[in-house]
Amino acid sequence: MAEQSAEARVVVTGGAGFIGSHLVDALLERGRRVVAVDDLSSGFAENVAAHADNPAFEFVDGDIRSPLQVDGPVDLVLNFASSASPPLFLARPLETLETGSLGTKQVIALAEAKGARLIQASTSEVYGEPLVHPQTEEYWGNVNPIGPRSVYDEAKRYGEALIAAHVRLGRLDAGIVRIFNTYGPRLRASDGRVVSNFVHQALNGHPLTVYGTGEQTRSFCYVEDLVRGILALAAREGQLGPVNLGNPEEITVLELAETISEFTGTTLSVVHRPLPLDDPTQRRPDITRARQLLGWEPKVGLREGLRRTISWFKEADAR
Ligand code: UDP
Repeated sequence: MAEQSAEARVVVTGGAGFIGSHLVDALLERGRRVVAVDDLSSGFAENVAAHADNPAFEFVDGDIRSPLQVDGPVDLVLNFASSASPPLFLARPLETLETGSLGTKQVIALAEAKGARLIQASTSEVYGEPLVHPQTEEYWGNVNPIGPRSVYDEAKRYGEALIAAHVRLGRLDAGIVRIFNTYGPRLRASDGRVVSNFVHQALNGHPLTVYGTGEQTRSFCYVEDLVRGILALAAREGQLGPVNLGNPEEITVLELAETISEFTGTTLSVVHRPLPLDDPTQRRPDITRARQLLGWEPKVGLREGLRRTISWFKEADAR
């Protein structure tokens, strides 16, 4: 590992994205120097615009599928570059596969060259349509390798395999976080995920689009909690995990629609749309490992997190 010096920087790939930009904020707040790499294919320059004049911050317009040029010492690399929303990764199947495979390879090469610890953003999607509930890290998953979602799921599984192999060979220090559904400010309507869709629809007087029956479940984690968990694993040198990070508070999509409707002060109006192929029926993290290893657990409940997210949407619409 590189010594953490005042000059050493943290590279955040996907640094202008939803989770990446919150990581950038938290790292700068903690006094770290940060290089954000992003090709702005699904991130927004506006997400990091507040740091434009901060000498501790640098933005590199780059695609991780190409070799990454970062000069000087780096002691931590956080790989958060990828479309992570189903409509986005389904619209860019080949790019998503390449970002998770070739891209992760390039990010590993950077971390290896710098002697930096690498934290890989993996996903609850590695569990696919889970046959074990809640999902523990020991569960190997149930992914359809040729289904439409496989472009994301299998690329993320490959990323885990590539990192684990480098670690076994003694070439890399890395940690893997398996991120469950996350929401919060900067999750835009164009992202297409359920929380952003519902909040945007409710605030604009549209019916909420419920896919399938709405009986499928998810467990939603507020982004600030997630970021704390990621940085806790980053600080645990030599610890690969993988570690589930998510909020075990599980609800159905219909219950989510009801809650968002209540919090936006609107009357619930729902329109059903077809369920996307291979959409998981249920999902809830077992976070025992995160609790034991990192002393981590979520602090912001769904109701409080939704309140904060809805206010952000209102402010963003007012701009
Ligand atoms: N979903 C929905 N309406 C929407 C968007 C999503 O009912 O407008 C459903 C989707 O089918 C899934 C759940 O909400 O069952 C979560 O979807 P999301 O795309 O947010 O994330 P996923 O967990 O599928 O990766």
